[in-house]
This record gives sequence, structure tokens and C-alpha cells, in this order.
Amino acid sequence: MTVLDATLSDGRKAQYVLVDNPPAGGMKKTYFSPDRSYVVQFYHKQSAAHDPQRKSRLEAILGKYNPTIIQAQGGAAASETSADYFKRLFCWPTGIVVQPDIGIVAPTYPGHYFFADGPFKGKEKEGGWFLGTKTRKLLPGSELGNWKGYFSLCICMARAVRRLHLAGLAHSDLSSKNVLIDPLQGTSVIIDIDSLVVPGLYPPDMMGSPGYIAPEVLGTQHLPINDPNRHLPSIATDQHALAVLIYQYLLLRHPLRGPKLHSTASAEEDEHLAMGSKALFVEHPADSSNQPRDLKIPYTILGQDLTDLIKRAFVDGLHAPHKRPAAAEWERGLTKTWDMLIPCTNPVCTHQMFVLADPRSVCCPFCKTFYPINTLPVLKLRSERRPGQWLPDGQIVAFHNQSLFPWHVFDNLYSGELADRTPQAYCVFHEGRWLLINQAMDSLTSPGGNRVPIGSAVELKDGARFRLSQQAHGRIAEVQLLQV
Ligand SMILES: [Zn+2]
Repeated sequence: MTVLDATLSDGRKAQYVLVDNPPAGGMKKTYFSPDRSYVVQFYHKQSAAHDPQRKSRLEAILGKYNPTIIQAQGGAAASETSADYFKRLFCWPTGIVVQPDIGIVAPTYPGHYFFADGPFKGKEKEGGWFLGTKTRKLLPGSELGNWKGYFSLCICMARAVRRLHLAGLAHSDLSSKNVLIDPLQGTSVIIDIDSLVVPGLYPPDMMGSPGYIAPEVLGTQHLPINDPNRHLPSIATDQHALAVLIYQYLLLRHPLRGPKLHSTASAEEDEHLAMGSKALFVEHPADSSNQPRDLKIPYTILGQDLTDLIKRAFVDGLHAPHKRPAAAEWERGLTKTWDMLIPCTNPVCTHQMFVLADPRSVCCPFCKTFYPINTLPVLKLRSERRPGQWLPDGQIVAFHNQSLFPWHVFDNLYSGELADRTPQAYCVFHEGRWLLINQAMDSLTSPGGNRVPIGSAVELKDGARFRLSQQAHGRIAEVQLLQV
């Protein structure tokens, strides 16, 4: 085993094991450290020559824009909690290599992002394996996960992109290849962070990947790079790629790939138009010419919040980048919808969960199984915007064993990177009654005005209204008992 030293821009050394045919992507080749805890990646020379601003971009990415290092240490994270959280959502580079060649040092992906089983055993879990009709069929059941896992990994992805965009950064090449996913744990990690678009610096020599490039980028690709009409990768183009990924992971199909033929001249020309200037949503409400015939599950099964976002992304904003939903809106829409997920009781259901999209019909859209109990409580949450004025600001389906978390109890807490994830209460169906059992709320108050101690319960009767907390920002919950 030949172990070599790479010299980093700050004078540190990083060891790597020399091999004959290192794994190589479009931009870099990869060598592992002797203990495989990190990788040293060298850029292919040609691309380095085309990108003279790479070093300043890398310095900004590793320094002042780095959400995995706290501000006191030269990064951008507001706290250690936030830094540790985003370390799991990004594979953020940790060093710039200057000798023997230009490159970066990055952490190795955690073990759960490699297939443990099946024909791709040992390979990285690129999203593409799960999305390709052929490759998905080859995956063993033990790798597929259930729908809750896909929802959860979409939240991770939206949250990570929101963090980039908040700092003014754009990824520029979001795709199923550059986001590794683990549907079993419901997590994702964004990789290839070194080609981010950094404010004030020239964008990297990047276009994006087929299927994820925004229509305006593809449609103006033929123009010279400095032409004012040419669209380059930006936050708005990331917003398109993010919407495509979320739609794909939740519905297992591409939002723009349908039967419509745009050009008979060549397959290339057709693809260019179908993803570019003529791009048309497969579920466009007014134009069904690109709709696959076998489309059985419409996107509206995702509930109102995601339906609205998908419409903005692929109907209103497909050719109007400024109308696309921001990553933060996707994060919020996904977390709100997460609270409306219900387990499907059919043990062989492919999805195991569904969204309560229509309160009049609590039925799994994937296997058509009805909810097994004839009532189902929904907690309508309200927060006090002005003294005495309680406005609706959320809801959660209180199915058997559902938990409430601090961000349900208080209107100033969010389920993001800083969240305390201690369950505050859980719901049970017991002897014909729905109950909310208090686990950690110190001032839960019954509809009659009595304190409900920890370990005791509030009955969830239709119309019951109670305070989850008497503290500032504590919410009111109002029970809507659906008749199923
Ligand atoms: Zn089902």
C-alpha cells in the first residue's frame, strides 16, 4: 500500500492511498485516506484550467459560507447544534489541496449511504438507483424503505437547500446523482459542494444534469456566456431541480417526461425541447398532451400544501423562474404535510403511509384500504397573534401512537436544525375513545380548565378545545373528529 501526503492550503497534510484506477466522476478523481474516514479528490486538469476562480470560490465555501463550522471558528453556523446538524445534510469539504495537484479533502459518506444488499451492494446510494424503473426493480425490498422515509429525506433535502440559499449560495448541479439518499433512515446528504455558486464570484463551469437543468438554462445554452439573455445556474435554477427531485421521490416519476413528441428530427432535439423551451408538466391542468396514459396517482394525493407548491413549480413557474417556490417553502410544505400522514393498515401496501388529503374519504390511494377505525381526530392548532385573537396555523392527524413535539405545542419553535425532538404527548385509541396522553407538557389544560398532569390524558372529543401550554407562545388545539 502506497500512502502519499497531500499538502493543504493552510499547511496541513492529508494522507491518501495511491491506487491505479481511482473512482472518477466528471470533475474529480477520488483517493481514500488510510483509515477511509476522508477522501482526497483531485480535479481533472482540463476543468481546472477553465475555472481560474476555483481557489477563491473554495476558500469562501470552506470559510465564511460554511454552515458546518461555527462563526467563532471562521464558518457560518450560528451554533454547534446547527453545525452538527448540517454536517449530516452535506458532505462539506474540509480542506483545499494545493500539492501535488489542486483538489479538496472531504469526509467519507456515512456507511448507511452504501447499499448493504442486492446487486449494487457496496455502491453509493445515488437517488437515481431508486428512481430508474429498471434499477428500482433490481433493488431488494430491504433497501427500498417506505413512503415515510421518502418524505423525510425530501425534508432533509429541502432544509439543506434552504440553508444554502439563505446564505446566497446556489448548488448549481442538484440532481439525483449529487444527493445521496437513504430511504430506510429517511435521510439525504448533498454532495459535490465544491462547485457552489458563491455571491460575487463567477459561477463555476457547470450546466446542471439532464432532467434537472432548468428550462431557461437549457433554452439559452447556445448563447455566448456573457450574453445578458443567457441563463446561468442560480438559486432559481436550484429551485427547479429541487422541485423535480421532490416530485420524483414522492411519486416515482419525472414531472416533465411524458409522451409528447416535440421534434421528429432527432431524439436529442426532442429531449432538448422537452426539458427546455417546450417543457410541459405531465399533469398540467389545462394541457394534457404530455400526460402518460397510465398515470394513476395524481399529485393532488399529496394534500393541499404540496399541491399548491407543485402547481407553482411546474405550471406557473416552469418558464417563469421568479414564480418558483423557495426551498424554505418546500421545507414548510413538506413538514406540514408530514403532520397529515397516516399509516396504512394493509401489511402489503407498497407505501405504508398516505396523506390525509380528503377528510371525507380516509383511504390509502396506493392500495385503496380504508382507515380501520370509524373516527379519526385531527388537531387544529391555533396561535395567539394578538391578545385574545387565536388564528389557525397548523394541524396534525392524531392517529393511534402519533406524537406531538415541542414545535406543535409552541408557535415560535420549528422542526428544523435547532429543534428539541422530545415527544410531548401521544395519541391512543383506547376502549372506544381517543385520548391524548401528556408526556412532557407542564401546563396542558383540559377543555374544562383543569391542569392535566404528566401521565394523564385529555379526551379528544369533537369540538373540544384546550391549551397545550399556558406559557407564552403556547398553542390551542381544537379537535375535529372525522367520521370515517
Ligand atoms: Zn395502502
